[in-house]
Amino acid sequence: MTDPLANEGFSLKTIGLIGGMSWQSTALYYRQINETAQRRLGALHSAKILLYSVDFQEVEALQRAGDWHAAGAYLAEAAKRLAAGGADFLLLASNTMHKVAPAIEAATPLPLLHIADPTATAIRRAGLTTVGLLGTRFTLEEEFYRQRLSDQHGLRVLLPGPAERERMHRVIYDELCQGQFTEASRAEFRQMIARLVSAGAEGIILGCTEITLLVDESDAAVPLFDTTSLHAIAAVDRAIGVSPARIGHPGDLETR
Ligand code: GLU
Repeated sequence: MTDPLANEGFSLKTIGLIGGMSWQSTALYYRQINETAQRRLGALHSAKILLYSVDFQEVEALQRAGDWHAAGAYLAEAAKRLAAGGADFLLLASNTMHKVAPAIEAATPLPLLHIADPTATAIRRAGLTTVGLLGTRFTLEEEFYRQRLSDQHGLRVLLPGPAERERMHRVIYDELCQGQFTEASRAEFRQMIARLVSAGAEGIILGCTEITLLVDESDAAVPLFDTTSLHAIAAVDRAIGVSPARIGHPGDLETR
């Protein structure tokens, strides 16, 4: 296929998006990726996306059973289908499921743009080193996510207490992933954020792709780092393949 963007000095890569975990946040990814592409490139430009959207009930059952091997195989299959469809790189629209990132990476030669990396880059760029992390129990309590933030990016990560982690986990699965956004849960999240800030957090990572649908900057006294939007913006930059400055749209916000 001839590439009409070649004259403009770049070619637009196709994003292979593994989504549906939940579809609430994948819909947001789709919108934010396209909004960013349009902002970066102008006119009628939009992103080239192949989407493999899973049945989240099936994935959640594997999580609950602790069968991460099967969950990894499930998403590896999605990656293979996206590769066969012509994706140039992969984006996994869930923090939690990055637990099986190695299985996805091993399934195809395509690179996986890890959600923790653009998040940590934005935090470092803001000059912060100590952050509070919100997300599912898997993301908070296991090492795959926190360790990447600390070992690869030098961040100090603070967590809510055990009861708060349990409560947040339940709100994510029982409410946010099912499209329910209540003022009561928002108030609970606001309190958890305030406690993390009192404990020294200079910023808060919204480390679950649905949390941005519940809280916003008015719920925190420190900057929020929204993994959904940071991941979406990073994907567009990767798809464009040139630095944003070169095409004259350097002004995207990386925190909210
Ligand atoms: N979307 C969520 C996340 O970013 C949670 C749902 C899942 O388990 O994938 O972690």
